[in-house]
Formats: sequence, structure tokens, C-alpha cells
Amino acid sequence: MENKLKTLFEKKFGGKGTLYASAGRINLIGEHTDYNGGFVFPGAIDKVIVADIRPNGTDRVRLYSADMDDSAEFGLTEADAPKAQWARYIFGVCREIIKRGGRVEGFDAVFAGNIPLGAGLSSSAALESCFAFALNDLFNNNSIDKFELARIGQSTEHNYCGVNCGIMDQFASVMGKKGNLMRLDCRSMEFEYFPFAPEHHTLVLVDSHVKHELVDSPYNKRRESCERVARRLGIDTLRDADMAMLDAVRGDISDEDYRRARFVIGEKERVLAVCDALNAGDYDTVGRMMYETHQGLSRDYEVSCEELDFLNDVARECGVTGSRIMGGGFGGCTINLVPNALVDSFIATAIERFESRYGHAPAIYPVIISDGARRL
Ligand code: ADP
Ligand code: MG
Repeated sequence: MENKLKTLFEKKFGGKGTLYASAGRINLIGEHTDYNGGFVFPGAIDKVIVADIRPNGTDRVRLYSADMDDSAEFGLTEADAPKAQWARYIFGVCREIIKRGGRVEGFDAVFAGNIPLGAGLSSSAALESCFAFALNDLFNNNSIDKFELARIGQSTEHNYCGVNCGIMDQFASVMGKKGNLMRLDCRSMEFEYFPFAPEHHTLVLVDSHVKHELVDSPYNKRRESCERVARRLGIDTLRDADMAMLDAVRGDISDEDYRRARFVIGEKERVLAVCDALNAGDYDTVGRMMYETHQGLSRDYEVSCEELDFLNDVARECGVTGSRIMGGGFGGCTINLVPNALVDSFIATAIERFESRYGHAPAIYPVIISDGARRL
């Protein structure tokens, strides 16, 4: 990809730029925890966006997206927002840096990626963090703190792309480190690296290509349940609850609220169990926690769907160590921790059984935990 981009840069703009990359991400465990003040557990993957960039001495930005085969040009004031969605991610990053008092001048860039779009691997966060990292290096002497680069990406989604996302995707894409996952505390924003370099397992994502359209804003309802239980317990968020506290108020809350809270509290405990297991290199426990998370998401939190439960069952039947829904639910991917010896047979079985049941094949992405934003 680097050579292709260098050739393209030469052709579009002449001469040479500097190459930067950033990555998509997975989340091993810790789902629906961010708005409950809990933990997420993401890592950057070996699927990337790479950009070749060079300041051009003007106040205009000129871009070529190799994957879209499309160009865009814009100035750097708020009124200059480009029309193309892909360019708005980059415009937003420029604007958010400027709004924070950072410097951005005109530049030329070509870029391309191999992160599937909209598959739950956060290609948009990778795009934002690639440019945020590059513009910090090219125009700001790397004076913007890395965590702030993630916030710049998040604000880009909020203010220029209409996506009201949390910080996890951009955080993982910016801070990711080869062979490490990160436990991010969504309350304090503190984070810690944990080794994730299984010798005998491979992470395999299975994308169901299913997205159920939902009518009754189920996310807000889940959130409201959590908030109601927290209020009943006299705490800010379910982060501060444990099962004994929840059981003590079981008679005063609805069964539905009880089950929602049971998932969130269990998920916090599972993330902590995974931390210990990773420190001990105990991938069987990691896998067991993933299955438990899936069950909780399916039965207690009720954000699964038939297709994802089916994929989870197939994983279990194939002897996969751990498997669960990744992301908010109601479709998308499962993330699977697969013994190396079973990878080929699991992939073949998952494709065959899913296709014969639902009429289309899932997409399969084996991933390796890799570095996040960087200069190449
Ligand atoms: P995801 O879950 O992958 O982040 P989004 O819908 O949030 O899905 O972001 C996908 C959008 O990001 C694309 O529609 C496009 O505008 C932009 N994008 C991502 N990767 C690329 C790429 N390689 N080239 C151009 N635009 C990209
Ligand atoms: Mg996105």
C-alpha cells in the first residue's frame, strides 16, 4: 500500500510526502459499559489507513482518496466544509485542531486503507486518527497530547459527521500498541496496557452483514434502565454497584431493569477477570468470559439477534475458545478467540452454515493486535 500511495502522490502532486498510518480496532470485552462509567478493552489491529502527506505552503487542503477514487479541496475556515462525507472526516480533524489553538496549514494528501467500512472495525476513527497524528507531527511539533488526538477524532464525529460516539474507537486507534490491549476506564479516562499476544490462538471476526433496523430506540431504553437502577441504589452509575447491592433492591425494580443491571455489573467483573487472565496468559478464561458476555448481551441486555446467536452457537460447536457479539448489538460482527489448529475449519463451517441458513455468506477477518497511529 505504501508504494502504491507514493506513486499516486507523485502523479497527483509531484514529489514526495511523508507516510503516516493508523489502525482499525477490536474490543475484546466491555460492551455497553461506557455510559455506565465502566471499562472497555480495545486494541488496534493490523488493518490500517495509510496517508502520504506534504504541506503545500498555501491555506488549501487538497486530498485524493484512492479507495473512493475521488478528490476534494477545501480551505480551513468553518465555512469551507466539503460535501463528500469521506473528506468531512479530515476537514473535521483540521477544524478541531484549530479550535483547540493548534496549527494547521494547507497540505496535499493521498490515502488508502484496508479496513472494511461500516463493519464495526471503526474505519472512520482510523481515518481521523491518521490525519490527527500526521497534522500534529507536521504542524505542531507533536505538542498535542495523544489522548487529545483521540478527542479531536471524537469531536470530529460529533461536530462534522453527526455521530454521537464515545471515545473508545479513536482512543484505540491512536494509542494502540502491538501485542497489547488497553483497559480504558470510561469514568476516569485512565488506561492501562495488558499483554495480548496469544501463541496458540487467533482472533477472527465474523461479520454477519446483518443490521436490524430498530424502531423503539433500544439504546436509550437500555440507558434509562441503567440510570433508574443507579438512582434506586443512590449511586451515580452502575460502576459503583455490585451484585449484592443489586439483589438487595431486586423486589423494588422491574425484572427488566434487574436483568439490564445484572449484565452491566457482570460485565465490569468480567473485564477485571480478563485482566488477571491476560497477565497469567490464561486464554481459556478469557474465552469463557467472552461467552459469558455474549449470553449476558443476549439474555439479560437483549441486544443480540438470531443471526449473532447462531454464529455464537456455531463457534461453541466448533470448539472455539471464546466468542461474542462485538459492538452495540442487533447485527454486525462476532469476535472469536480461535485455537490456531481450528481456524480453517471454524471459518469454513461458519461460512457454510451461516450461508445455508441465511442465504448470504458472512465476511471473515482474522486480525492481529498491532500499533495504532504512527509515522511510517
Ligand atoms: P466504521 O464503523 O467503519 O467506522 P463509519 O460509517 O463510521 O463506519 O465510517 C465509514 C466512513 O469513513 C466511510 O463512509 C468513509 O466516509 C470514511 N472512510 C473510512 N475508510 C475510508 C477509506 N479507506 N477511504 C475513504 N474514506 C474512508
Ligand atoms: Mg465509525
